[in-house]
Amino acid sequence: MLEVDDVYKSYAAADAPALRGVSLRAEKGDFLAIMGPSGCGKSTLLHLVGAMDQPSKGRVLVDGRSVADLGDDELARWRRQKIGFVFQFFNLLPTLTVLENVELPRLLDGDNGGTCRERAQAMLDLVGMGTKSRRFPAELSGGEMQRVAIARALVNEPSLLLADEPTGSLDTENGESVMRLLAGVNRDLGVTLLLATHSSEAARHARRHVHMRDGAIEALTENPDVAASV
Ligand code: ADP
Ligand code: ADP
Repeated sequence: MLEVDDVYKSYAAADAPALRGVSLRAEKGDFLAIMGPSGCGKSTLLHLVGAMDQPSKGRVLVDGRSVADLGDDELARWRRQKIGFVFQFFNLLPTLTVLENVELPRLLDGDNGGTCRERAQAMLDLVGMGTKSRRFPAELSGGEMQRVAIARALVNEPSLLLADEPTGSLDTENGESVMRLLAGVNRDLGVTLLLATHSSEAARHARRHVHMRDGAIEALTENPDVAASV
């Protein structure tokens, strides 16, 4: 469902390319951890896969479609429907309640009927935040905010979930709990999951490990811990 073909990315301001010849495939339901030190290109790869940015060279196909072929309006819509994003700093809107934050991606696509609220509430139940739907983000712990962000990312039933350092601003315990939630979502909903992380604890949950260095993939390994338990 995901195909990255010999992708290069150069930023105008930088001298060395952020990605140089990255190729990668993921099947539906796969769980990949993109690992490596800060600056190796993890976020850049996720941005290209999520159609937030275009490669300088090479191509990215999601469900057989190249994002380069989509116009701006179509692209924004396609991104909302196909791809869920989870960020290090949650990116919840502070003036909206938890429920309203999760409803937003559906409202943007014109679902303002009764199903929108029901669907958002069901997602909050799924991530264990069902009883806190009327709170505001500032009234939640970091772990709780990330659960809400995961509910928001899933509300449009994306085929691909991209998580960029989702445990990066959480303590060990909350980070582990968020990773268990993400692994459960991957297993139970069948959503393909790409995790970018420098944390080996977070990566333990992934089925495959993609080791990056200086903008290239150094090695691709199966995770024996997860392979054994599936
Ligand atoms: P990681 O997520 O692994 O920390 P990034 O993908 O953020 O790595 O960064 C890869 C390289 O690209 C780094 O050298 C970084 O400084 C550079 N870079 C990332 N984003 C930009 C940008 N918007 N403009 C210029 N350089 C960038
Ligand atoms: P954690 O153990 O996950 O770090 P906290 O100690 O930050 O959690 O919060 C514990 C509980 O208190 C959570 O259920 C959270 O919703 C609630 N809480 C935290 N901060 C506030 C606040 N400013 N207003 C209302 N409730 C809060």
